[in-house]
Formats: sequence, C-alpha cells, structure tokens
Amino acid sequence: MMGEFELIRHYFFPIAEVGNASSVLLGPGDDCAIQRIGPDLDLVFSVDALVEGVHFPHHYDPEKLGWRSLAVAASDLAAMGADPVCFTLALTLPDANPDWLSAYARGLASAARRFGLSLAGGDTTRGPLTLSMQVHGTVPKGEAILRSGAQVGDCICVSGTLGEAGAALDHLENDSPGPEVQAVLRKYHFPEPRLALGTALRGFATAAVDVSDGLVADLGHILEASGVAASIDASRLPLSQHLKRLVGQSAAGLALNAGDDYELCVTVPPQVWAILPEKIRRELTVIGEVVAGEGVTIDWGDHTENLSAGGYDHFRN
Ligand code: ADP
Ligand code: MG
Repeated sequence: MMGEFELIRHYFFPIAEVGNASSVLLGPGDDCAIQRIGPDLDLVFSVDALVEGVHFPHHYDPEKLGWRSLAVAASDLAAMGADPVCFTLALTLPDANPDWLSAYARGLASAARRFGLSLAGGDTTRGPLTLSMQVHGTVPKGEAILRSGAQVGDCICVSGTLGEAGAALDHLENDSPGPEVQAVLRKYHFPEPRLALGTALRGFATAAVDVSDGLVADLGHILEASGVAASIDASRLPLSQHLKRLVGQSAAGLALNAGDDYELCVTVPPQVWAILPEKIRRELTVIGEVVAGEGVTIDWGDHTENLSAGGYDHFRN
C-alpha cells in the first residue's frame, strides 16, 4: 500500500499544476502554502484535520481538545515565521451535546485569544468527530521561512524541550498523576505553538519545520527539501528534568522519535547564530549540524547510528 506522503505526491501534487494562479508562490510540500496578496505581503495558510481515535483519544476532554486543535494548526504558521491572522473551523460532530460544545468552545476561545487568531468562518456537519482547522497568517513579501533553505554547515536548533508529549501517551488514562506525569501531560494537552519565535527567526533561519511527527521525521522534511543531511549529537538534545525522572534512559529516544511536541526545528548559519539576539538564542538549543549527503546520523558518544527519516505515517503504521 502507498504511504501517506507517496499517496499525496502521486494523486494530489499534480493537481497543484492544473490551475494557473501565478500568485501562489509555494504549493504543497511545506508546512504552509504561500500566496502573494499585495505588493508587500504574502498570505501563509495551512489546513489540519484531527480525527477522534487517531489524533486524540476517544472521550478526550473537550476543553483540552479546543486548545489542542487550534494549537496544532497554528504551529504550521510558526514554522513559516508567519504572523497569525484568522482561522476557519470545519466541525463534524456525532451529536450536538451542549456540555461538550460549551467546553470545546471554551478551550478554543482561550487558544484563539492566546495565539491572536480570529475565527472567521467554518462548516458544521454530523458524523464521526473530526475537527479541521484552516489557519491564515501573513509575512512581509518573501520573508516566509521554508523547509528548503538549509545549507551545509548550518547549526540545527530546536526550541524548548522534546519528548514529553510522547511520554504522556502512556499516561492519558492516569487518574492520580505525580508531578512528572502532570508535567508531561500538560505538554501533550496544551502545546504552545512557537509563534513569536517563528516570526523573530525571519531573516535569520534558513529553514524551519514544526515537530509534529517526531524530530527525526520532521527534520527529515527539511533535509529532503534542502538536499542535505544532518549530524545530531544525542547528548545535546534538550530534555526536561521531568522527562528524565519519568523515563530515565529512554528520554533521548523519545526526543528523537516521538511526536506531538510542536516545538520548532530550525537551521541557522553559524555566523548568524553568533549574532542572534540573546532573546532568540535563549529559546533554542543547538543539537547538531547540517552536512552533505542523505539522512540523519546520531552521535551517541560511544557509537553512531544512521537513520533514514521515518516518523508517523497514517497509511503505514
Ligand atoms: P504538516 O504536518 O506540516 O501539517 P503534512 O505532513 O500534513 O504537513 O503534509 C505535508 C504536505 O503535503 C503539506 O505541504 C500539505 O499541504 C501537503 N498535502 C497533504 N495532503 C494533501 C492533499 N490531500 N492534497 C494536496 N496537498 C496535500
Ligand atoms: Mg508542520
């Protein structure tokens, strides 16, 4: 069977060529698409669907879902360095339960306020619970950060800490979580898309992606789009104390392979890293370097491991 990306490329990428909208500067293949909408302004947009039982568990708390559904969509704007503007919401519901709806709307409203995204429209239908968010942002003409700009020698950096949301998956049913479990659950339930960091990185980062499917997989998208490889130093992966206390030796593996963190992975030339404003540098950890070739090499100290970028595939896993 075709994998998710193969399927998209085979059936849908060709349709991108059918229209002749010359204002579409970037079609499928990046975190968002880009359309020039004024002499000095580009529209950056992306749609994400969340399906019950796939992207969130059955009977998931609706207030958390409200936050999370917008956060994961907004994260693609962060990855492009876009200023958030508005979103539309396509909601498919099995029934119109007022308690569920008011809690969902409460979570969604707090995320919308936090991310600076206005709800501009949508569609409501009956069926299996699915939430689709289209997010719109803008960047000054030509300033969006693409996946395709990484150069050999660039520093590979990630924001925040990695692996916690992945560790949370084992504890979603935990009724009396201790402090470590609470911390990782918080990261899973309330991801914070790095919108301010994304915009601050315009003009500095050569490439960016948000870590939705796992660092190796998402960095892999940058490498593929840029025609380069990566060398990662496992000892430099940013791991929280909570995660290390909770999973011990498994923390680095989670940081490399688990999804749902919604941090940014960006490449920055070393000479630019040296002059980056301290405020931006504080939010990032350098974990490795862009090198020539293909794939990702992990330096574990006593041995190295070569990985081809895998990650979550909706039609293979
Ligand atoms: P992300 O994880 O950043 O949201 P995805 O992995 O969902 O990105 O998608 C990868 C790329 O494929 C994106 O550029 C997206 O626009 C494109 N894509 C996904 N599904 C389709 C589709 N059905 N038709 C056209 N393009 C698609
Ligand atoms: Mg993305």
